[in-house]
Amino acid sequence: MKSMKRGEMPGYERLRSEVVDRKLCTFCGACVSACLLRHLEWADEPLRREKKAACEECSLCYDACYVPKLQEEEGLLEEEVLGRKRRMEEEPLGIFSRILAAKSKDERILENAQDGGVVSTILKHLFEQKSIDGAIVAGMREGFWEPFPRVAKNFDDVIASARTKFGISPNLMLVRDAVLEEYLDSICIVGLPCHTRALRHMQHTKFELAPAISLTIGLFCRENYEYLPLRNYVEGVLGEGSIAEVRKFSVTEDAMLVFSDKTLSIPITEVKKWVPRHCLLCSDYTNELADISVGCDGSPDGFSTVIVRTERGKSVFAAIEAKGLVETKPADIAAIREIAERKRRKAVQTKKIYDLRSAGLSAEEIATRLGIELETVLHRLEKY
Ligand SMILES: Cc1cc2nc3c(=O)[nH]c(=O)nc-3n(C[C@H](O)[C@H](O)[C@H](O)COP(=O)(O)OP(=O)(O)OC[C@H]3O[C@@H](n4cnc5c(N)ncnc54)[C@H](O)[C@@H]3O)c2cc1C
Ligand code: SF4
Ligand code: SF4
Ligand code: SF4
Repeated sequence: MKSMKRGEMPGYERLRSEVVDRKLCTFCGACVSACLLRHLEWADEPLRREKKAACEECSLCYDACYVPKLQEEEGLLEEEVLGRKRRMEEEPLGIFSRILAAKSKDERILENAQDGGVVSTILKHLFEQKSIDGAIVAGMREGFWEPFPRVAKNFDDVIASARTKFGISPNLMLVRDAVLEEYLDSICIVGLPCHTRALRHMQHTKFELAPAISLTIGLFCRENYEYLPLRNYVEGVLGEGSIAEVRKFSVTEDAMLVFSDKTLSIPITEVKKWVPRHCLLCSDYTNELADISVGCDGSPDGFSTVIVRTERGKSVFAAIEAKGLVETKPADIAAIREIAERKRRKAVQTKKIYDLRSAGLSAEEIATRLGIELETVLHRLEKY
């Protein structure tokens, strides 16, 4: 265990002051897994880390957090994972070998999946090949669509955790238990771009449990939404407990669609109020450091968009195609690129708004200085 120099702030205090108190935490869960002494656990309502015992003089949780190193590691992690620097023309999608649309041919997957079921198809294939012994995914707490991390160990678990749950799932908190309690040594992580970045940082810093991770499937992500206001809205319209009857949530440019006995359309202006602060500052849309990225933008309804990136990703996806597990067609790369650029611009703009606010400017002054709508500034400042 890495020891601290005399007089240095213990790891947890440093994590708190540099990341948590500055509202930069993305709730990836890595710090919890890093505390091998189990002093750190996850607690709910509100979602937070909770320290169960006094710390030893160690810095494991701080070292596991990617946030303080975000700028320093920009570009470096990509080079490490993908073997070279990104070319200008690869902006803003990241390094890739293929982009395509794909749809599972497995009926059970199609009935249960969010889009084309590519994530579940890859997991099913990896379990059948015995190339993984577990996958860290986001399950659903008590059927109420609240995401929470779980370890899938077979195809039934994969099906039970399919579909998109909006809300924060600190998936990496389970790396510790998956390795040390369940003795898994070849794990696939399914996660959002923030999870993948955190995981790549853990691999880069040689976190001792990281060699157990054998593949990352990264979801696209424009933004996430807080679970509780979403649930309150749905139940306010459809009745208490009604969220358990929902079959699927999906988000378009104008609304969040809630598919239940009837389809509820929540205006996007309402939904935007539930975007957590850290998502307003996030610029990775296509999960640029994953082995394989999967989304739906850029593909026809019922298909998933797949970006194959690493050598490992290439061989897994090639095996799936060779076995005839998916139907494929071209994806609309220009559409994906446009959304990725928009997310980048938004992150830069939010950072400028927050910097100007810190410098003491009013919302009106910020809007004038940046030449943007006052409404936009006020929306971002709600989370300042
Ligand atoms: C918060 C969020 C935002 C997204 N935003 C976009 C977007 O802007 N554009 C886009 O094209 N796609 C987006 N996606 C991805 C999209 O919703 C689908 O997950 C993707 O198309 C894969 O579909 P599939 O049918 O292959 O997945 P499935 O086979 O249904 O598998 C879905 C996988 O996602 C995991 N998962 C579900 N919820 C979460 C969660 N909250 N955190 C971590 N993992 C989770 C499940 O465990 C499961 O393994 C988003 C996903 C999430 C969770
Ligand atoms: S004991 Fe755990 S919580 Fe405390 S500094 Fe070490 S890793 Fe962090
Ligand atoms: S490791 Fe992840 S969950 Fe922990 S403080 Fe950093 S960002 Fe937050
Ligand atoms: S927008 Fe970024 S920080 Fe927010 S959930 Fe998506 S990847 Fe994570």
